[in-house]
Order: sequence, then structure tokens, then C-alpha cells
Amino acid sequence: MGFRPFIYKLALDLNLKGWVNNTSNGVHIHFNSEKELANIFVKRIEEESPERSVITQLDIDEVPFENYSEFNIIHSSSEEEASLLLTPDFAMCNDCKEELLSEKNKRFQYPFITCTNCGPRYSIIKSLPYDRETTTMDSFKMCPSCQKEYDNPLDRRYYSQTNSCPDCAIELSLFENGTLQKNFSNLDYIIEQWNNGKIIAIKGIGGYLLTCDATNPEVIKRLRKLKNRPTKPFALLYHDIYELAEDVEMDICEKLELENTKASIVLLNIKQDMMTPLAIREIAPNLNQIGVMMPYTPLYKILLSKFKKPTIATSGNVSNSTIVYEDKKAIEELSKIADIILLNNREIVIPQDDSVVRYSTIKFQKIIIRRSRGLAPSYINSKLKLSNKTILSTGAMLKSTFTLLNKQNIYISQYLGNTDSYEAEVNYKNTLLHFNQLFHPKLDVVLVDKHPNYFASVYGKEIAENNNIPFIEIQHHKAHFYAVLGENNLLESAEKVLGVIWDGTGLGDDGNIWGGEFFVYQNKKVERVHHLNEFQFILGDKMPKEPRISALAIASGISETTIIKDKFSNTEWNIYQKLLQNNTHLKSSSIGRLFDAVASIVLGIDKQSYEGEAAMRLENAAYTYFRKNNITKFYTYFKEDKLPANFTIFIVENIISDIKKGFEKEFIAAKFHITLAHYISMIAKEQGVKKVAFSGGVFQNQWLVELILLFMDDDFELYFHKELSPNDECISFGQLMYYLYDGD
Ligand SMILES: [Zn+2]
Ligand SMILES: [Zn+2]
Repeated sequence: MGFRPFIYKLALDLNLKGWVNNTSNGVHIHFNSEKELANIFVKRIEEESPERSVITQLDIDEVPFENYSEFNIIHSSSEEEASLLLTPDFAMCNDCKEELLSEKNKRFQYPFITCTNCGPRYSIIKSLPYDRETTTMDSFKMCPSCQKEYDNPLDRRYYSQTNSCPDCAIELSLFENGTLQKNFSNLDYIIEQWNNGKIIAIKGIGGYLLTCDATNPEVIKRLRKLKNRPTKPFALLYHDIYELAEDVEMDICEKLELENTKASIVLLNIKQDMMTPLAIREIAPNLNQIGVMMPYTPLYKILLSKFKKPTIATSGNVSNSTIVYEDKKAIEELSKIADIILLNNREIVIPQDDSVVRYSTIKFQKIIIRRSRGLAPSYINSKLKLSNKTILSTGAMLKSTFTLLNKQNIYISQYLGNTDSYEAEVNYKNTLLHFNQLFHPKLDVVLVDKHPNYFASVYGKEIAENNNIPFIEIQHHKAHFYAVLGENNLLESAEKVLGVIWDGTGLGDDGNIWGGEFFVYQNKKVERVHHLNEFQFILGDKMPKEPRISALAIASGISETTIIKDKFSNTEWNIYQKLLQNNTHLKSSSIGRLFDAVASIVLGIDKQSYEGEAAMRLENAAYTYFRKNNITKFYTYFKEDKLPANFTIFIVENIISDIKKGFEKEFIAAKFHITLAHYISMIAKEQGVKKVAFSGGVFQNQWLVELILLFMDDDFELYFHKELSPNDECISFGQLMYYLYDGD
């Protein structure tokens, strides 16, 4: 990211002679200087380093004297073993944006403009260190003018590995009706076809995106049908941030998030009186929030500026499988969905979906929903005490990632999908293989989830056996807890920390399904101190898919069952009642299932078409209430500060009673959320803690997080995830933290 040119310019400025190079273990600078001037140099390196760079460590030492006559940049040698951090892909920078739009510039309207400050990195790297020959740019030869920029240390494109221009261009091609048209340049045609209601697949940074006109309900319906995705919301690419501001509620932190170098998808509340005629019911059925990103590549920028409307921009895949990133596969598979495919000949080495973030509305708490393009894979936290061992942790099943500790650097893979599908397994294996090619790690130990049947557990054990090294099983929710402790540097804490770990499912130490857990961490020991009252876990995978079954299981034993009985046929009801009477099933303390049960009872959502749909709609209902009413008035189901004997049954009984009293469903949804925040604060008081940390997929719920902050911020120190997602993406990192810090 232009670090060596920065050093070069600084050295010229201070009239220092010597050299700078970039090796696999970092940047080295040798120079002749008096001590005083050397200290000034170091200070200025720290203070003035380029915006996108992160200095993790900086040392200065006296070395044997050599006399230099000028200052030079020496180029990389890849002899040493790579231990470098991997740079993520960057969105187009403002300088490039300006050039792209300036008619006088040689790169005017050139769809692949980049510089040292922007463009793809991680997605095109084949081996380390990062150099043109080690990326997929190696097949493009620079024209004399680009080469001149590349060779000039004072140019913004000095040593810019992705450098190209219309004279030495990366080429577009168009696939339509079975024919591939090479050297395609008529971008107006894409605009025309968007307007004609066509679905167009476009190759971006991490893979292909499926796009279409976001104001045309018919084409979105068609896309849903072809993609076999009935209700899961689609993200949008917006043409203009000012027009976006007319359509959604957007605070400054969200605006910055949309425009920064990471260019994630940001979830935003839509305004009741939005300006753009978005086909909102087709984009995000039953929700008041949409995911939006700004055109982060020059190609998207050109297209969206011409189109002057937002488009759908969803990962190019069939149903929920891995994003397509290879041209051949795009033509084979995506042509079943897309009418037109816009390809280019810059290869993608490793696929990534777009990252997703959201902020809570009042307290601006950032929540990462998906960590991928722009955010993965390096993770920097200089306060962690890392071991010299080489460790692989393989994560969980849903929202899988793996973490590699190699030469004291932590790499956390991008989101790799749900490895209950074959394609996701292949993608997981390929990404791990890619890491092996980058780092050649010699593993000492493999860490896996306790669940023996997860792909990641089986595969991790296989790797351990093949390498003749040990594997260690780590409980799912403890891994969650250690992940949030690690991110917040609480692993050395002698003071008690309460961990509230809430998610859908994970195998517990007692063989039951956990998910509503409270742990206490102190002096490197963890203890499960409380959990949601257990209910019977029946019908296996059917339970998370049908929220009405959670309602049935959680409400078994309560007197008023009419609302629940109505959700089943007589035959179903009789069979399920018998199942419950058997009482031989696993027990579950999953709060995810409690959300499902409440969504089923309150909103009548009895089946869901994607993971988390019921919970999202319950959150959405709560939001609808909070939008209209004073949030400072806390309605909660507890009258006194005393926990009922069975919290889950108490909640369900009270909710059914509220429904019978005729309270509106939005109010009940809000009251449920407030009660959960109240519940947490009561457990925290009971445990006598000051510090409370949160992890688990349930904390993707913006309103639950908001209420916890509003309810507890004055009395407690609250810790949330910062750079990682609270969902199972953080498990692999948590497994590593557990291994490094567990006192037993
Ligand atoms: Zn740039
Ligand atoms: Zn050129």
C-alpha cells in the first residue's frame, strides 16, 4: 500500500541515504544517520504512515556501518519463508475515482483503474510476498506509460502491482445466447438490458454478482425463482449516496462505512416516504431494512453512474452455494439464471462474498454480520500473547471459517458458507489449500468443535491424523466466549467476566444442545453458571426449520395451548404429543429456538425459508414498535427483580396472555426483547460481575444489542465483538484463544 514510496519520500525529505526493502517478515530500512535524526525519522514513520497501513511493530537498532551515497528502494526477495500479513481487497480510492471521471485522463472510463492505494489484493494473490508475478496480474504486460509510473518512486502508481490502462488493458467480454463476445466495450448495452428487465451477472472482486433493476418487481421475482430463494433479502448496489440518503435512515457512521476502503454492505432502515420506487416487497420481504453497498470497483461505478438507479447485487450462485468466481463455471452455471454475463480476463484466485455490517440505531454499536471481502483475512491484535506453535482451528458448521496461527500471525479466513453443502466443503478445502500454498505451515496441533459430525471437525481430525499431530475438541459456546474475550483483551483478566453466549445450536459438554448460556471467566478458568431452562429437542433438523415445533416443545406443560394447537393438523398434534411424552430426547437450552417459538406464537411464522428468518422478523416487529414509541419506557415481563422458576415457560405464558388481552404484536415483540435485556442484567447482578461480554448469532440482533446497552450501560462494562462477527464465524478464532489461554 505504498509503504516503501512513503519511506523513500520521507528519506529524501530528511536527506537520508540508504535503502528500504519489503521482505516476508516486514519492511527493513538501513540508513546513515546521527541518533537524533534517526529518532525523528522513526517518529515521522509512525505519525505519517499511509492511511491504509498498520504498523504492528517498529524496532530501531544500530548495525555495522556501511556508507550509502543515495536512498534506494530494493525489491523483494521471496527466499525467506513468508510470514507477512495478507492485505485485503480495497475499494476504489478517491484519486482513482476522480481520474475515472475526468475526460482528460488517460484512464477516463477505464473499468480497471487502480493505484497503490486501491484495488484487489487478497483475491488475486497466488503466493507471497505480494508482487506482480505472484498475482493474477502476471499475465498482463504493462505499456511503456504504465511501466514509467510503476518505476517512479514519486508516482502514485509506483510499484503498483495491479497497474494497467486502456493501452495495456484488462479486457471485458460478454456472454449472451450461447456466444462469447471478446473485447467488449459497449457498456451502454448493459444499461439498456437492465432497463429491459434482464438479469446480468458481473464479475467483480470476490466473484460474480447477479444484478438487475431494483425498481422492477417482475425481474426480481424471476431472479428469486431461478435462484430458488423465496424470501431471503437481496442486497442493493446504489448509484449515488445522496439519493440513498433520501431512501434510508443513515447516520454518519453508516455513511462512512459505505464510503470507506472496505465498502461493505450496510444494513439500513428504509424511510416510509422513500424517493426511489424500489420494489421493496420483492427485495426484502417482510422487513424494514435493506442491505446497501456503493460501487466499489471502477466497473460498477461506470455502470451505476450511467444507470442512475440502484440494482440488486447478490452473490452469483445457485441457491445458497458458494459464490461463482471462475469464468468457465460462470458460463456453465450462472447462465441458467443470468440472461447476460459480463466477464473480464483478470482471474480471481480465491472467492469472497461481500462483507455485511450494521449499526444499532441509538448507541451506534457496530455489528459485523459477515466478514469477507475488504475485511479478511488478516487479524491484528498486538496485545494478544501468541505462541510460537503453528495452529489450525477449523471452526463450526454454519457460517464456517478457519483460523491459522503461523509465525505469530493470525489469519482468519473469510466467511466460507455453511459446510452442510458439498460445494461449501470444497470451497473450505480450497481456501485452506490456498493458505498452505501461501505459508507452508508446519502444523503442531489442530483444534476442532466438539460436535463429531461437523464437516470441519471430521476434516480437522483427518488433517491431524495425516500429520501425526494431536487434535483438541473445544466446546462451541466456550469458543464463542473466548473469541469475544480475545478481541477485547480480557483473557488476562483476574476480575470476573460474565459471558452471555446466545445462539441457535452447539453441542454442550453434557451431550445436550446448548444455546442460552452464561459463563464466568476468571484467572483463565471458565465455568457455566446459568443457562436458559431446557426443553425437549425433538424432530432433529425439522425443529430449526419450523418455528412452530419450537413453540410446541417450549410450551409443553403450559395450560393454554389453543394458539399452538392451531398450527398443527390433528394427526401431527397427536404424534408430536406422544413424542414429547416419551421424554427421551436431548434437552436444549437454545435461545435461538425461543426466538423461533415466540415468532411463531406472536407473528404466526410457522416455517422459515432461511436460517434466522423468524428471529429477524421478530426483531423487525420490535423495531416497528420502537420507531413509533418512546423507547425509554421499559416494558418487561418481570414485575420484580426476581427470576421466575422457569424463565422460558414464564415468557411463553405471558406472551400468550398478552395476545389474548389484544395487545398488538409489535408491542409484544418489543416487550420480549426488553425482557431478554432485563434477564441478562438480573443474571449479571446475581453473579456480582462488573464486566459482561456477548457472543453468539443472537447478538446480530440490533435491537437486542441496543436494549442491552440502554438497560445495562450505566451499571456494567459491556463488551461486544469488534472486528469479528458474533455468529459462528468467530468460532475458529475462539478455539485458538481457548487453546492459548485455557488454564487447565
Ligand atoms: Zn486508487
Ligand atoms: Zn498501460
